[in-house]
Amino acid sequence: MTDCAYEELLSNNKVWAQKHLAKDPHYFVELSKAQSPSFFLISCSDSRASIDAITQSQLGQIFAIRNVANQVSLTDVNSLAAIHLAVNALEVGHIIVCGHYQCRGIIDTLSGPTSQLVEACISPITHLHFRHKDMLDALSDKDRADKLSEMNVVDQLERLCKTSLLEQAFCRPNYPLLHGWIYNIYKGIIEELPLPLKEWKALGLIPESYPIP
Ligand SMILES: [Zn+2]
Repeated sequence: MTDCAYEELLSNNKVWAQKHLAKDPHYFVELSKAQSPSFFLISCSDSRASIDAITQSQLGQIFAIRNVANQVSLTDVNSLAAIHLAVNALEVGHIIVCGHYQCRGIIDTLSGPTSQLVEACISPITHLHFRHKDMLDALSDKDRADKLSEMNVVDQLERLCKTSLLEQAFCRPNYPLLHGWIYNIYKGIIEELPLPLKEWKALGLIPESYPIP
C-alpha cells in the first residue's frame, strides 16, 4: 500500500527543484560549491516549528542543529562539532537559540518525563525549573510552560557562552552576536527575548565591547 503523504514529499521535491532551475539553471551547481551562512540556529525538533518555513529563509542562509527543547548539550559530540563548525570555521555573524510554546520537552519537564531517555535529555531544564520553582509554580499551567520555554532559551544561550568554543569566537574582532527567540505557536510569530547582557558581561561571558542596546 502506498502512503500518499510520503509519496507527496518526493513529488513536491521534484516540483520545488524544477522551479529553482526554471529561474536559474545553475542554482544548485552554484549552491553546491560552498556555504557561507550568516546565522547559526539551535532550535527544537518539533514538526510545527521549522524555522526555514516560518522565516522563509533561503538555502545557504542558516546553519542549524535541532534537538528536543533547543538545548546546548555539552555531552553531545555532534552538537559540539556543529557549534565548532558554525562559530569557529564558518564564523557566523549571529547565533540564535529559538524555543517555542507548547514544547513537549518543556511540558514533560513540568509534568514528569515519560522515559529515562527523555529524563536524561531534559535534565538541564529540570534543574532550571527547580531553581525558579516558586515563581513558576505561582503561574497557571499554560503560563508556567510558556515562561519556562522562554527561560530555557536564555539559559541555553548562557550555557553556550560558557563553552571554550564561544570563548575562542569572542576573541575575534568580528565575534557573533547572540539572539534569544521564542516562536509563539499560537500566533505564528517569532518574538525576541531580552537577554541579561549586562550580567553576562560582568561575569566575563561576553566581551567588554559587546554592544548592549
Ligand atoms: Zn519543542
